[in-house]
Amino acid sequence: MEWAQLAYLKDTQVNISSEFSIIKKYLSGIGASYLQANGIDVSIGDDCGVLATKSKLLISTDTSVSGVHFLKSMSSDAIAYRSVATALSDIAAMGSQPVAFNLSLVMPNFNPDWMKGFRKGLQKISKEFKLPLIGGDLTKGPLQISVTVLGKPGKNILLRSDAQSGDILCLSDALGYGYLGLKEFKRSSSLNNKTKPYLFPTPQISYGLVISEIASSAIDISDGLIQDLSHLISRSGVGCNLDLAKVPVADKKYTKQCLEFGDDYQILYTVPPKKIKTLQMNLKSIRKKCHTIGIMSGKKLKITNNIFGSLKNWDHFKYDEFS
Ligand code: ADP
Ligand code: MG
Repeated sequence: MEWAQLAYLKDTQVNISSEFSIIKKYLSGIGASYLQANGIDVSIGDDCGVLATKSKLLISTDTSVSGVHFLKSMSSDAIAYRSVATALSDIAAMGSQPVAFNLSLVMPNFNPDWMKGFRKGLQKISKEFKLPLIGGDLTKGPLQISVTVLGKPGKNILLRSDAQSGDILCLSDALGYGYLGLKEFKRSSSLNNKTKPYLFPTPQISYGLVISEIASSAIDISDGLIQDLSHLISRSGVGCNLDLAKVPVADKKYTKQCLEFGDDYQILYTVPPKKIKTLQMNLKSIRKKCHTIGIMSGKKLKITNNIFGSLKNWDHFKYDEFS
């Protein structure tokens, strides 16, 4: 064997062994106590995870890129938590119960303190949603986290495409906490009541499960109200009369930004009018409300009480919030 070839093999060997030790030390055992209850037969350590299931499974992937979806200056526990939370939001929007997740981590270098914080963030969200980490990938490159979540259906699987004319348009909670949180984080770089909803957003899992019994369609708001409502309208083939004055916002001083920004991970959904009372009662059991903000009708989106003119929405290819 040529000397150069030998050196190459040695290098590769070093990388492989350090990759394994990072996985073992920082990414293994997260949510291990939930494996059995969630039907996971095989977790981290083999080529694939194995899940035993009798029901349908929902699956969704969400990628968070440094400088696009989060700031590099954020603590690594928030980066980890947020990356899993945004993936869980899709599972919530379909009225599903998450059972496990996979995580692909691309990072430029290995920093033990950063990795320790990253593990802490994963453990926090894993505990909150009783969700084990069952596999993934680890590669060197610009910081990026990709999370795949698996979920089991609630009472019904909520699609974007089943809204009916006459259904009431509802929202799980006020919009704008993500916007205000990022604004405050850029100013203070600290964790406080204002920045928490941005750094550690709450995916609306229990809300999604409650509405899965009753709602006709749903979508999570990640890219701004108008854009996500437009998806629901076009997939369902029914228009909407949206009353902007009825949309709850986190801070009235910034109503326009709260409506446009996204990053709130609330659920936008439709409910047949005769079921709205039952829904409100059921939501009380999780101390939540439904905010009615419009009615599905016609073929187009009509907005009343719009004092803002045209509302723009988050588009990664058009705006660069972090530059
Ligand atoms: P393979 O080479 O077969 O793709 P890897 O060497 O990448 O496997 O990973 C070894 C084991 O560690 C696998 O079970 C994989 O799922 C797990 N793993 C790798 N990266 C991660 C990660 N970022 N988070 C959780 N588990 C991981
Ligand atoms: Mg393999």
